[in-house]
Parts: sequence; C-alpha cells; structure tokens
Amino acid sequence: MRALEERVEAPEDFGTPAIGIPAGSDMDLDLRLEAVHEGVLVSGTATARAVGECVRCLDPIAYDLTVDVQELYFADPDPATDEDGEPLPRVEHESVDLEPLLRDAFVIELPFQPVCSPDCQGLCPQCGVRLEDHPGHRHETRDPRWDALQSLATDPGQTDQRKSN
Ligand SMILES: [Zn+2]
Ligand SMILES: [Zn+2]
Repeated sequence: MRALEERVEAPEDFGTPAIGIPAGSDMDLDLRLEAVHEGVLVSGTATARAVGECVRCLDPIAYDLTVDVQELYFADPDPATDEDGEPLPRVEHESVDLEPLLRDAFVIELPFQPVCSPDCQGLCPQCGVRLEDHPGHRHETRDPRWDALQSLATDPGQTDQRKSN
C-alpha cells in the first residue's frame, strides 16, 4: 500500500459555469493506493474550495468541499468495458490517471443550482436589489391599468367628458 498525500493544482473543467473548483487552485489529496489482485485500488478523500455564485441573487459563494473517492484501476492491458461499453480505468505505464476520478467525485457533489442560503429570496424583479438585504422591500404597483382606474375614481369630471365624446 502506498499513501499519497499531496497538494496539487486543480485541473480545468471541475464544475459548471455556476460553481466549480477554479483551475489552478489548491486541491489536497489524501489517498491510498493498494495493489490488489485485479490492479490498483485507489481510495481516500480530496479537498478543494468550490467557488461560484448564487443563481438567485448572484452573491459570491465559496466553501471547502471534501469528497470521497474510490476506484479500481485494472492491470489487465485488454481494455475491459463497463455496461455502456466505456473502457474501465486502467493502470497505464505503471501509473493511474486520477483526474477523471476526481472530476466525477467533485462534480457530483457540486449543487446544480447553487444558492447562498436555502431561503435566499433572490433579486427584486423590478429594481434588482438583493431582497435579503432589504426586508419588506416592495414597489407601488405601476400597472397602467390601475392608473386608469385611479383617474376614474379621482377625476369624475374628466370621466363625464369622455362619456359625452
Ligand atoms: Zn442568494
Ligand atoms: Zn425593487
């Protein structure tokens, strides 16, 4: 068994446009590589900082994310395939490619719709202020149909004129 405790730079494409592990940021690996009958079993954890923005209010989000990983890399040079016909991970040139394993592990743990807090109310659709920062924020109704009703109610003279036209 070999322990792999290492800080590496995060590769590209760990996440979505909304949230992900920025390329080049620190990723801490704490892995065990064990020789088993079929090949090499890799297991352990990886930790990195997820950075993104709230899909409702666009506030920045950042938090440390630790994921569990486990994968068997086959020593057999004939590429075995999974049920979808995709080649299973293999030991190649006496090394294993950790990137697909880590990418899958992080991407599955990242929220599809990241929010700064579960009850974030987002932005005011009319003026764009962040509603969490302005409790009770509202606008007077600006529907022009209401203005017309208002003038009927407050200006009976004009209403009479319109009727006579
Ligand atoms: Zn938010
Ligand atoms: Zn507003």
